[in-house]
Amino acid sequence: MSVEVRLEHIVKAFDTTIAVNDVSLEIKEGELFFLLGPSGCGKTTCLRILAGFYEPDSGKLMFDDREMSRVPPHKRNTGMVFQNYALWPHMTVFENVEYGLSLRKIDKDSRKKKVHEVLDVVQMPEYADRPVNKLSGGQQQRIALARALVVEPDVLLLDEPLSNLDAKLRLEMRQEIKRIHLQAGATAVYVTHDQQEAIHLADRMAIMRDGSIIQVGTPREIYRFPINPFVASFIGETNFISGKIQSLANGTAEIETEIGVLRSTTIYHDFTDGEAVTCCIRPESIRVGDVIAETGANQLSAKVLSATYLGRIEEYHLALAEKLTAKAILYNPRTHGKDVGERLSITVSTQDIIPLPAEAPYTHEEEPEVL
Ligand code: ATP
Repeated sequence: MSVEVRLEHIVKAFDTTIAVNDVSLEIKEGELFFLLGPSGCGKTTCLRILAGFYEPDSGKLMFDDREMSRVPPHKRNTGMVFQNYALWPHMTVFENVEYGLSLRKIDKDSRKKKVHEVLDVVQMPEYADRPVNKLSGGQQQRIALARALVVEPDVLLLDEPLSNLDAKLRLEMRQEIKRIHLQAGATAVYVTHDQQEAIHLADRMAIMRDGSIIQVGTPREIYRFPINPFVASFIGETNFISGKIQSLANGTAEIETEIGVLRSTTIYHDFTDGEAVTCCIRPESIRVGDVIAETGANQLSAKVLSATYLGRIEEYHLALAEKLTAKAILYNPRTHGKDVGERLSITVSTQDIIPLPAEAPYTHEEEPEVL
């Protein structure tokens, strides 16, 4: 059975740190919902409030129409999967998975049946008798999932479940988590720093910052229609160009910038004439190939600062003005790429110039990967 999860104005502080600041969310029954945001934004605290490890200072937590805010963890019927698996190393796979059922006083035959069913779901039936310390990291994480699922949780909670795995295994396990979630059908809340994991798996996600929810949406909504420069830069890569609204008419904005007037037809904020904005342009929306004349496209001139051939794509670092650079991605690069120093004309569709409120973007500590 799965439930709808509602957080209503939840606040949680530790001394002077407000870890969760008036968070309200509705997570639909059966949904795979992600909490995503930079380190310290309050994701884990939210998850721990859902599990019952922390009580909120104020606000309400509801599972369907049952208030859970102060219900102890073992009475919530949640299953939790941790980053470090938290398995008992010297117990067998069977014993680890069975443990939660023994606590619930389920008879031996039913326990055995349920453990084998769930080992089938995680595709580890032949490992029942092996001690878990003789399993690989990926296999241990499957067992941790099996242990959380065996109790048929109303809500499955996943705390960075893949972050201890190597890159290749993470990709494999992503697919597995998707499949297992579909098969188990539980409402699931998944915490991660990894935007790619979230985009890949999430039905919907909440982007958090400093204890607050900044935006909730499907991966497509968040990537395509970020609410502000912080979200645009946290999810995927973005070029930003500062400007000022020159005119707004018939769903089109003319934006004055240092590289000329940019035209946008993707406007979902209420801007006024003269308002300062930050234009978001994704690297893949800059056309650097043979320029196709498109009515209404923004045509700009650029100089190639660097070109990196990566097989499937070619990445360009372009100078648009003396102190303004942009990243562009060309898909399916053919014969000869552009040369460093080459001057070229680039175009961006009016749909792909997205004016956002003029706020500071998020600065990734490391160069983010291309989506
Ligand atoms: P990370 O991605 O690094 O795990 P997070 O988004 O999960 O971060 P939280 O662990 O929820 O963030 O922490 C939110 C804020 O609350 C941080 O400033 C953190 O230092 C603080 N905090 C969390 N747990 C405690 C605690 N038990 N005692 C004191 N402060 C805490």
